[in-house]
Amino acid sequence: MKAIQVKKQGADFELVEKEIPEPRGHEVLLKVHACGVCHGDAIVKQGYFPGLQYPRTPGHEVVGTIAKLGSESHYWKVGQRVGVGWRGGHCYRCNSCIRGEFWACESPLATGISTDGGYAEYMVARMEVLTAIPDELSSVEAAPLLCAGATTLGALKSSTVKGGDLIAIQGFGGLGHLALQFAVKLGLKTAVISRGEEKEALARKLGAQIYIDTNKVKASEELMKLGGARAIFCTGPNSKAISELVEGLSRNGQLIIITFVNEPMQISPVQLMRAVRSVSGWVGGNTADTLKFSVLTHVVPMVEVFPLEQASVAFDRMMTAKVHFRAVLKISEG
Ligand SMILES: [Zn+2]
Ligand SMILES: [Zn+2]
Repeated sequence: MKAIQVKKQGADFELVEKEIPEPRGHEVLLKVHACGVCHGDAIVKQGYFPGLQYPRTPGHEVVGTIAKLGSESHYWKVGQRVGVGWRGGHCYRCNSCIRGEFWACESPLATGISTDGGYAEYMVARMEVLTAIPDELSSVEAAPLLCAGATTLGALKSSTVKGGDLIAIQGFGGLGHLALQFAVKLGLKTAVISRGEEKEALARKLGAQIYIDTNKVKASEELMKLGGARAIFCTGPNSKAISELVEGLSRNGQLIIITFVNEPMQISPVQLMRAVRSVSGWVGGNTADTLKFSVLTHVVPMVEVFPLEQASVAFDRMMTAKVHFRAVLKISEG
């Protein structure tokens, strides 16, 4: 089979030919149809994740058809179309797993990081993290919902916002354009914060009531003119821009960060105390709930499709924020 590999830390993607892997015990073999290209895939190149070994195939927004079952994979069938996201398996031994809170597993497998992911014609996945893909969604549409979609919907649902509240979405790319659509469907009054005028028309078309161009105005001041945002969901990887948004939160407002960024933020305690504001991070979400919500509300990602051979082009367009709005590798029909 063909697969993309990163051979060592800092190396480029390389297209290789390798044996189709054999599913063991609780694993299944997937014939991959589509795999989204996520900012989290940069970890495989950068190499700063515990347990990451090389060579490694990235990709954690994977939709495929089950081609073969491991000996213990009872409740799935060959031919079923399924998806797998960031969560690649539970440890069954940590405090969370013992309590049955598998979603909070303290030593989970990460798809495309601790195991080979979906930038390949075939991959093995563990049966406990598979999600059935509804017929209403194509593989290319469903793939980004498994990480970008689950993360944004999970962040919205985990927050304290309720229908009618003003919220803001900082950054309008792969995560931001899904966060906006979900927020609108949840009945939230939604502001999009982005640099430049370029994205305003699309943001409004997707339901944004307010568009804040940070080239022209200060986002926190604009939000305070409207009474402050009950929550701001930060999807743009820029710690300085995120820090400044604290001043745009209403009383009890939440700043929720859903983007991978390493630089420290600068927020003074008094900024939080004055209005009982909080800052938190969020990652992951329930993939089955996300697919269900997407079908119910007709929210789908806007994608640019690339063949497997062009994974590097797709990745570079994602990293330089040129892609509209999610890059997806289409690897086979189905
Ligand atoms: Zn991701
Ligand atoms: Zn665990």
